[in-house]
Amino acid sequence: MSDKKLGFDTLQVHAGTEPDPATGARQVPIYQTTSYVFKDADHAARLFNLEEVGYIYSRLTNPTVSALANRICALEGGTGAVCCSSGHAAQIMALFPLMQPGCNVIASTRLYGGTLTQFSQTFKRFGWSAKFVDFDDLDAVREAIDDDTRAIFCEAIANPGGVITDLDAIGKVAKNAGLPLIVDNTASTPYLVRPIEHGATLVVHSTTKYLTGNGTVTGGCIVDSGTFDWAASDKFPSLSAPEPAYHGLTFSETFGPMAFTFHAIAVGLRDLGMTMNPQAAHYTLMGIETLSLRMERHVRNAAEVATWLEGDDRIEAVTYAGLPSSPYYERMTRICPRGAGALFTVALKGGYDACVETVSKLELFSHVANLGDTRSLVIHPASTTHRQLSEAELIKAGAAPNVLRLSVGIENVDDLIADLDQALS
Ligand code: PLP
Repeated sequence: MSDKKLGFDTLQVHAGTEPDPATGARQVPIYQTTSYVFKDADHAARLFNLEEVGYIYSRLTNPTVSALANRICALEGGTGAVCCSSGHAAQIMALFPLMQPGCNVIASTRLYGGTLTQFSQTFKRFGWSAKFVDFDDLDAVREAIDDDTRAIFCEAIANPGGVITDLDAIGKVAKNAGLPLIVDNTASTPYLVRPIEHGATLVVHSTTKYLTGNGTVTGGCIVDSGTFDWAASDKFPSLSAPEPAYHGLTFSETFGPMAFTFHAIAVGLRDLGMTMNPQAAHYTLMGIETLSLRMERHVRNAAEVATWLEGDDRIEAVTYAGLPSSPYYERMTRICPRGAGALFTVALKGGYDACVETVSKLELFSHVANLGDTRSLVIHPASTTHRQLSEAELIKAGAAPNVLRLSVGIENVDDLIADLDQALS
């Protein structure tokens, strides 16, 4: 059966995998091997020349990791996908074939704090830069684009505020500028948002979060829509010009819609080595089978917790886009009609000190630097994930000093509300 015809719940269990051809094992085996025996010298040469697809060495590909990449690809409605060692690795791997020294990315101000730091600081070491813009101001996004821009980057549901990006509008800006739109779909997952349907060229994930769902392993994934014409301009020579390390092969000509994916494996993983290991892929394959069931409960619990918090006197504001009072509510019904996710912030009237005290008193909510676990999680971004930012940057990123970020889990919602109530008091 073609994956295209199957529903999401079926794909999350079956896509990308078949019973193991060697043993019939029903579950995807953990192929714990670094290398694969070539049939003969010709076979090895064809693999190394990219004339035949197959397994060479696990820095590049591994059957367990490929099964996960194919499953995420099917869930996102992409053409090809590559897994890597973390969400941050996925961001670098997505940009690596697009960028050169002197080039820039137009990035939303509403991004995970670690991404803001990666883009504003570490990029400099590569000669890259990022221009941060409020993505609700489409004119500002258009004006920021210049001849050296190579990509537009945002999160579908932004960490920490849970703000929903108008992907349709940003997708049009990117298309008119002839630029790829890269969407981090970590906080939304393909169950809530399928960015490719809204104009994304590439989708990146921290599989560490909801896709795995059990807080066991870090991982990342890049899904390519396969729709961007890399040869339409001279801006993307890694994909559209001859590659010296492969005897002058041109990825866009040879692999068409799979150009990005083949480049990400054959050059990106080969040279950057940000490989996902098969154990990590196994844990994520286990988690992803229940993604839709978990996301339904996450969303239902988050909506109830946010509604309760909004009605409480100790609370200044709640950013949950699923609340009818949210300025992003209409956008939610268009971009993610199944719900606004389970990640949002809550501003406490008691300020910074009240945040620190509440975090220490919570019992069911764990104080951790993670999100998207089955367990409810809490963090105070200003003193942790976002502590590198100035006060102005904190406010722009939706992480003011009196703000807590909640990642609402799948526990009984009454217990979660009772825990928040006792901690706030
Ligand atoms: N993108 C988002 C939205 C995140 O929240 C995170 C981590 O919290 C990342 C990317 C980075 O992912 P990882 O920690 O797997 O590198």
